[in-house]
Amino acid sequence: MYNLKVDCHTHTIHTAHAYSTIAENVTIAAEKGLEAIAITDHFGLQLSWFQPGREYNLENHLKPANLPKIMGGVRVFKGVEIDIVDFDGTLAGSEMPIARNSLVKSENYADFILNTKDMVIASLHYFHGHRGGTVNQNTQMYINVLARKNVDILGHPTRCGLEFHWPAVVDAAKRHGKMLEINNETLRSRPHQAKTERHLAQLCAEAGVPIVVGSDAHICYNVGEFALAIDLLTEIGFPEELIASRSLAAFEAALGQARGRL
Ligand SMILES: [Zn+2]
Ligand SMILES: [Zn+2]
Repeated sequence: MYNLKVDCHTHTIHTAHAYSTIAENVTIAAEKGLEAIAITDHFGLQLSWFQPGREYNLENHLKPANLPKIMGGVRVFKGVEIDIVDFDGTLAGSEMPIARNSLVKSENYADFILNTKDMVIASLHYFHGHRGGTVNQNTQMYINVLARKNVDILGHPTRCGLEFHWPAVVDAAKRHGKMLEINNETLRSRPHQAKTERHLAQLCAEAGVPIVVGSDAHICYNVGEFALAIDLLTEIGFPEELIASRSLAAFEAALGQARGRL
């Protein structure tokens, strides 16, 4: 039985459709004995509060007094879940030049996010025509995303229900030192995807590609909820040493690898 100490995927009220504060997520994380959580609110024009011209909302996380690294004994990663917006694997905000008065020099909002967050999950939720691609186009989209600097984790890869050439996706993760997510919420809300999720986990195990397990909590009570993911990983005997979210130390090491620091 795995005892995972990091929840690398949680949302707060800064995601327009989630319900808890950072403090509430942290409190539950501490109660459940987690060593760390990541705050990964959405960045995408459809799924977050962000409006162009309100970049001060995005920059506040750079001020340690406003958002400390450790809260209530829990390491809190300032993360993001950024949207994939086309088959090229472009990320949300790439087309939007950042305001001149921004604290951080960046070409555009996507760059700003990639340059300033502790960790970045890139996920496909929706873009116009996203169901119209071929298997090759879908696969290339994920490969391009995994090749992007400072994208650390491909979020809930199976959630969208599209077809991919999974060995090629896993191979790209391996080449770039990135992590793939096994997402507890996908297994809860889309049980029909469990077979694909299991297949993906098996390929990761065979290739030695690290995974993370995320709760994708949209309310604090779901922080640290990994039961379905743990059942799946147990069933296939997934090697614990490849679960980067098993401990804070393992997660930091995997992030270092994803960002080329090791
Ligand atoms: Zn998501
Ligand atoms: Zn999410």
